Amino acid sequence: MKTIVAATKNKHKIVEIEAITSRFGMSIIPRDEAGVPGIEIPETGTSFEENSYIKAYEIMKLCNQITIADDSGLMVDCIQGAPGVYSARFASFPGIWPVDEGGDDVDSDDKENNNKLKRLIKDVPYEQRTAKFVSVITMVFPDGQSLVARGEVHGHLLLEERGNSGFGYDPMFVPLGYDRTFGELPAEIKNSISHRAKALKVLKDNLEKLNLE
Ligand code: IMP
Repeated sequence: MKTIVAATKNKHKIVEIEAITSRFGMSIIPRDEAGVPGIEIPETGTSFEENSYIKAYEIMKLCNQITIADDSGLMVDCIQGAPGVYSARFASFPGIWPVDEGGDDVDSDDKENNNKLKRLIKDVPYEQRTAKFVSVITMVFPDGQSLVARGEVHGHLLLEERGNSGFGYDPMFVPLGYDRTFGELPAEIKNSISHRAKALKVLKDNLEKLNLE
């Protein structure tokens, strides 16, 4: 079993990543267990790829172990792909994009983010309320090599929240082919079709090509 340090502090993400990576013989330890100090890493990138790399690289430098980072978010078609890389802090700025990127935006809570999203899309008919979750997972090795994998899951947004499982925008998101939200579907289903699951599968294929121990 290979041990990999998770750059994220988001417990939900660690549980989802571990549920998937354990099948591939990878065990994930949270960064604090690897002795990494509780520093905040500013997500200054404008793409999921950039932010994911920044997080993985900065943590790898602090622990000198293989590190995995996920940068993810929701892209909603009728509002120009927002909130995108700003998904975690969507409610903390007034418009759909922050006016002053890299300022002192702070993460907002899930309820506030969902309420803002509902306000913005309330007059849009269901068929046009299409969205996708995106996850970009980067693994950085102490020798400087890195692997990048992207996964997406498409669906529709409800104007209400349904279900208590998952986190973030899950209770509003109905994946294509299902009639329940990610908040209602059992974790095993979300973990088999989610953006994060798809990115991890790509990562696993890339790892196999690298032919690591
Ligand atoms: P990150 O920690 O910068 O990657 O921010 C990701 C944000 O996107 C989270 O705080 C959630 O708001 C949203 N998000 C990402 N993945 C999911 C998911 O699987 N379900 C629901 N919301 C998600």
